[in-house]
Amino acid sequence: MANSVSSENHRPLTLVTGGAGFLGSHLCDRLLAEGHEVICLDNLITGRMENIRHLLGRPQFHYLNHDVTHPIDLPALFVQASTPPPDQPVRYLLHFASPASPKDYARHPIHTLKVGAMGTYHALGLAKAQGSVFLLASTSEIYGDPEVSPQTEKYWGNVNPIGPRSVYDEAKRFAEAITMAYHREHQVKTRIVRIFNTYGERMRLDDGRALPNFMVQALQGKPLTVYGEGAQTRSLCYVSDLVEGLYRLLTSNEVGPVNLGNPEEVSILQLAQAILRATGSKSAIAYEPLPEDDPQRRQPDITSARQKLGWEPRVSLENGLAKTVPYFQASLQNLPRATDSAAVPPAH
Ligand code: UDP
Repeated sequence: MANSVSSENHRPLTLVTGGAGFLGSHLCDRLLAEGHEVICLDNLITGRMENIRHLLGRPQFHYLNHDVTHPIDLPALFVQASTPPPDQPVRYLLHFASPASPKDYARHPIHTLKVGAMGTYHALGLAKAQGSVFLLASTSEIYGDPEVSPQTEKYWGNVNPIGPRSVYDEAKRFAEAITMAYHREHQVKTRIVRIFNTYGERMRLDDGRALPNFMVQALQGKPLTVYGEGAQTRSLCYVSDLVEGLYRLLTSNEVGPVNLGNPEEVSILQLAQAILRATGSKSAIAYEPLPEDDPQRRQPDITSARQKLGWEPRVSLENGLAKTVPYFQASLQNLPRATDSAAVPPAH
């Protein structure tokens, strides 16, 4: 466990943009458990109320519906929500708002660019005004289709600036640049995490990523849609490990970008086979065309996180999948029967 910050101040005020998303909501849980008062900002474009419903009504938790591509006027947002604002400045600001799956950012290309650019600008402005520590959720996508593997923080990346993934990759690269500019010009206390593929409870069934697609397909007895030959690799981190690393980074003094992810690299075909084993499914594999600019390899070098944060993942892929299967089973059971097929659109 990272050091609790609650001793510094009885209850630090912490704001999470994208707090109703997959990672954002797990962060809200962790921050509350560590004794923070939490403001969750989300416009629910890809986040979901059901991720934070269990927190609504807790006195230390405030949900504000807001699109951070517009300026963040906190007092006005509290007035809108008919809630008295907390009487202390924001101590920590975690900027997690953004569509994050290839399917989501293909569906919202301009919004993805705006949230990475204007959203980060607004969030940094708030952090500067309030004297907050600012943590940017960046991504392994800034490495593009990497020419070196594993990727260290020193690698500058190989990104197609006009390809279908560029709206996310370039927005996050801009977000890193403006974060460093605020650090250098205004001395904002900034942290940058480059998050590699992460999975677990609260992923949307229809976010189009490999893991939820394969889980849903396996549990429904449908073929698993492996793109290309499935030889491309990813390294998947279970959500509790990632949140632990994020909390350690937040409460550290580390300015430079830090990779967080699980170095256990698997091919996408191996992932499909692991999900068949974890679910006990007899589904077949269906090979489909590889999307444009799909990165061929992705594996974090986590030396920096190990040395600076004393962090490394603890949950193996096999154990993480076993923890995650019941969530997908329950979510599929809770789908309205008549709309089963509509609620989980096909993989593409
Ligand atoms: N993929 C796949 N089948 C699917 C969804 C994704 O084979 O139904 C592949 C995709 O082409 C990519 C990898 O799985 O090579 C990981 O894709 P994902 O969308 O999960 O995330 P990414 O790491 O590409 O952002």
